[in-house]
Amino acid sequence: MKVIITGGAGFIGSNLGRELLRRPEVMEVVALDDLSTGSRVNLDGTGVRLIEGSILDREALDTACQAADAVVHLAALPSVPRSVIDPVASHHANATGTLEVLQAARRAGGIQVVVASSSSVYGANRELPKREGMRTAPISPYAVSKQATEAYAMSFGHTYGLPTLAFRFFNVYGPLQAAGHAYAAVVPAFVDAALRGEPLTIHGDGEQTRDFTYVGTVTRILADAVTRTVTDLEPVNLAFGTRTSLNALVGQLADLLGHRPAVDHVAPRAGDVRDSQADNARLLHHFPDVEPVPLREGLEQTLDWF
Ligand code: NAD
Repeated sequence: MKVIITGGAGFIGSNLGRELLRRPEVMEVVALDDLSTGSRVNLDGTGVRLIEGSILDREALDTACQAADAVVHLAALPSVPRSVIDPVASHHANATGTLEVLQAARRAGGIQVVVASSSSVYGANRELPKREGMRTAPISPYAVSKQATEAYAMSFGHTYGLPTLAFRFFNVYGPLQAAGHAYAAVVPAFVDAALRGEPLTIHGDGEQTRDFTYVGTVTRILADAVTRTVTDLEPVNLAFGTRTSLNALVGQLADLLGHRPAVDHVAPRAGDVRDSQADNARLLHHFPDVEPVPLREGLEQTLDWF
């Protein structure tokens, strides 16, 4: 198989490239990435071929998709606060970009497209756990752009018979996740600050909860999805129903580090949801054998990488 990863030089994409090349079915992995948030270094020594280009560039997409069997579409501007500052840029990369990727998959002969949506689509709907059939209620431009991502993918399944699968990722964390920038996700931001001896910044009281998923678990499922051509005309939550508050996350890190890092509480952020926890019945229907890496072990692996 030849597999394309859009956003393949980013956090999840570069972990996925490694996982795919461990599979006997996969001969070639090509990353199409404009390096806007990803980095060439993430692919060093992996065997993944990088094409530096944008998913908004049809020629770059067609070059990458030549003779390909599947696309895992991860390219996006992936941050809620970033989308609050520049909603149009998020829309172009995430919504229009997805449409371009789906069109390229049709031009390449109707190959499978697996896309990355987000738990943020549940937004203001506070019901827990999050089931895919629930009403979505995005509260940030990012969440709207991710709703467009999944809706376009599923509509191409209905309209053109394109084999598609839309995952709703929850909070993915692990090695190769960038820290030390304004839009860093919570786990790398906490680990980075703790290792520097700086206080961890918590927006709000820290009792907000997240369903953390280790990146190795996510990439195993993504690789299974393309090697088995799993499709669905409905979105699929990709998380395991655990619910961890940010205060509890600090506690777990304190245990692993052997000291309790200082914490600064600042004002809550616009666009952030309060609680998150997945119902994963649909995920387990498609991937019954998956064994998620527990949070403590995933945090250990993350600390080892830092
Ligand atoms: P990331 O920023 O590390 O990766 C995104 C990659 O896309 C980067 O390498 C970036 O350079 C690339 N990119 C951005 N715009 C592009 C464009 N126009 N053309 C080509 N490449 C472009 O983020 P990530 O955490 O690896 O996220 C991957 C996907 O998963 C994203 O679609 C994100 O929305 C989704 N997601 C992630 C999480 C999470 O917790 N990490 C949660 C929900 C959804």
